Amino acid sequence: MNRRKFVQTIGALAPLTTLSKNLSAFEGNVSQKKSIVISTWSGNTKANEKAWEQLIAGKSALDAVHQGVMVPEADPEDMSVGLGGLPDRDGIVTLDACIMDHAGNIGAVMGLENIVHAISVARLVMEKTPHVQLVGDGALQFALEHGFEKENLLTSKSKKAWKAWLKQSQYNPMTTVEEIEKRIEKNHDTIGMLAIDSFSNLSGACTTSGMAYKLHGRVGDSPIIGAGLYVDNEVGAASATGVGEEVVRICGSHTVVEAMRYGHSPEEACKIALERLVKMKGKPYCQKVQIGFIALNNKGETGCYSLLPNFTMAVRNEEGSNVISSKSLL
Ligand code: ASP
Repeated sequence: MNRRKFVQTIGALAPLTTLSKNLSAFEGNVSQKKSIVISTWSGNTKANEKAWEQLIAGKSALDAVHQGVMVPEADPEDMSVGLGGLPDRDGIVTLDACIMDHAGNIGAVMGLENIVHAISVARLVMEKTPHVQLVGDGALQFALEHGFEKENLLTSKSKKAWKAWLKQSQYNPMTTVEEIEKRIEKNHDTIGMLAIDSFSNLSGACTTSGMAYKLHGRVGDSPIIGAGLYVDNEVGAASATGVGEEVVRICGSHTVVEAMRYGHSPEEACKIALERLVKMKGKPYCQKVQIGFIALNNKGETGCYSLLPNFTMAVRNEEGSNVISSKSLL
């Protein structure tokens, strides 16, 4: 039955309230095939799998991305997210996270200490407060008031890495080729995750321990709506990984979504945002900076692009799990 016929039939049979209910069920069925989840970095296929389980169980994209990014948050081996994340210059693990749903609801935490699931606290900020961002001690206090338990996030592995770093104590967020190689070895970094559910709704989540050995109090792009993550249900969604200072400079994820709004494919849109940074700061500067964007439009098409080589995107849809190697600008 085509959509017009369906509407006519239902219209003849049902009062208006029932009609709208039935229409959304109809749209849900039509778009079932479109359900998809993507995330930054190939190492996040496990996180995608968790999100996918939610989607095929009929859960919302919001639940899917929330549950999905909790996987690396709880993994002590993942040294860039949640438990086991590399600490700041002073040996303190501080977490940044944000979440955004199809209806423009947003929540974020910045510089959160001692709580594994920063993304869950960000979601509570979104759902239980009139605010959109909580920072540092206030974010921790809010988490504790909502039943979260304090935990030591600094694992012996992360502590060892920090102690080794302390010998030189040089913080340089500009990325060297060797650092990129290291990232590939460990195969993961900040997780940004985007999903479409069976109701054609988009949501996204982004969570990180931020740049290793940063100044205490430094906040990157990841918890900033518009920088590390942006969702517009009418257009699509985007998320970022890499040197947060540079992503913030170009309002990265929002810029990607706006490019999709003006008709560009997700891949082109990611490239356009990166070109903006190169135009602003010049090629020699950008050759030392890694940024990777992922994007998903509301048709379920995906794309990614990075400044430097070796960025990857993990995709999960009804065809299975896939890793896409990103093209790079420089
Ligand atoms: N974007 C994160 C930050 O700047 C770090 C990363 O993705 O590696 O905090």
